[in-house]
Amino acid sequence: PALSLSDLSPAAAAADPARSEEGIRAMLRWFKEAFPYERGTCASCGASAGYRGTVRASRRERGRLAARAELWRCGECSSWQRFARYNSVPQILRDRRGRCGEYTNAMLQLVLALGWRARWVVDWTDHQWLEIWMPAGGEAGGAWVPLDPCEAAYDEPLLYSAGWGKNMTYVVALGDGALTDVTARYTADYNATLRDRPLSEAQVASALRWVAHTKGAPRLQPAPWR
Ligand SMILES: [Zn+2]
Repeated sequence: PALSLSDLSPAAAAADPARSEEGIRAMLRWFKEAFPYERGTCASCGASAGYRGTVRASRRERGRLAARAELWRCGECSSWQRFARYNSVPQILRDRRGRCGEYTNAMLQLVLALGWRARWVVDWTDHQWLEIWMPAGGEAGGAWVPLDPCEAAYDEPLLYSAGWGKNMTYVVALGDGALTDVTARYTADYNATLRDRPLSEAQVASALRWVAHTKGAPRLQPAPWR
């Protein structure tokens, strides 16, 4: 039978994990198709544009929760492109322009609205994605499952380190009432990662506890639409 929105709820996942996984995978494929990765393509002629710098967001852009805007110039027709880095999810959903930051923000709001426990995952070199808590079918427990909206990737934790050859040193999950060092599950060789770090695991854990204590552990809720 065709998938419906109710198949995408955590309650449906607890009852039928395989069908739920199929639904989430379909949602990720739809999202990647509908929300193309922003690469500085010229809106006038379709040629590739070159990055010329970042400026402070305009008053109008700040009203849609952007702090800065990128300027790009087309190599063919010389027209300028402006790419504001919006944090307003409705704006991101309308514009369909973004990279991992915008699209992780948007996908997080979609899964939170569907009722999932979710958290924001930040690789401190330059990438972001999210995780949802997938209940185990008919049993206690479950697991955090990575979702990458830019790659339509479901549960592929080694996509970055083994797949792309990325050298990741710190990967932190924010949300669900905690700040968690999740680097180990995303690196193919965690011992090598630990050797690259100037800090011990205990120091990282202590720093995250300190931030959570002083700033409050993040609890992601579906945001008011603005
Ligand atoms: Zn052009």
